[in-house]
Amino acid sequence: MSPLLVISAAVFGAATAAFLPRLAERLAVRNGEGVRQSCAVCSRPFSPGMHGWVRVGAACACTGGCLRVVSTGAAVATALAVAVGPLPLLPVYLLAAVPALLLAMIDVRCLRLPDPLVAALVVIAGVPLGVLRPEQIGTALAAGVGALVAYGIIALLPWRGLGLGDVKLAAALALILGFTGTDAVLAGVLTAHLIIGPVAMFRLITGPRRAIPFGPALLAGALIAITTA
Ligand SMILES: [Zn+2]
Repeated sequence: MSPLLVISAAVFGAATAAFLPRLAERLAVRNGEGVRQSCAVCSRPFSPGMHGWVRVGAACACTGGCLRVVSTGAAVATALAVAVGPLPLLPVYLLAAVPALLLAMIDVRCLRLPDPLVAALVVIAGVPLGVLRPEQIGTALAAGVGALVAYGIIALLPWRGLGLGDVKLAAALALILGFTGTDAVLAGVLTAHLIIGPVAMFRLITGPRRAIPFGPALLAGALIAITTA
């Protein structure tokens, strides 16, 4: 394992993550609402146009730092670099980690997984993976459709705790993991449930019943499946 590769990946992960707090702040809105036009804390309006979307560091000058998201970005990229190594797959996963981290941040804030971001994740990862591993396209599509149907049924159950966003993200991740193999798909799904189970239990014991974002667990499960495959 080349230290330079790992350090480069970590720097990429940290640098891209530094742009995410502002994006998450503006995109974390309830269904049907437009993107946020001003800071939720100090009400200062965001600049119009592209300027209002691009900010390195915290979402607004009034809020604290962005150490947590930057260190998460660096840690995810480091884990991917160590696990994947100097293969063409590495830049694919590193790029896909950017919308993945943004999805997790938005889901934690407002229990939503915006479709365009899930679609971006599928395109950024799925298209190059299809080129690099064409022999796995059948497995990947079957995994994606399988997850869509299975989680779709769960989401329709009366005691559902699963949203349609979760269903679509689970299908997207199953498709991506399908390029690694069915073992990776099963590992990703299983790990996501192993993460969300204790979290749900803890929430149930400690406080009033609230919805729990499933997206971060699904994404963490996929990351663990990729890095341990
Ligand atoms: Zn502010």
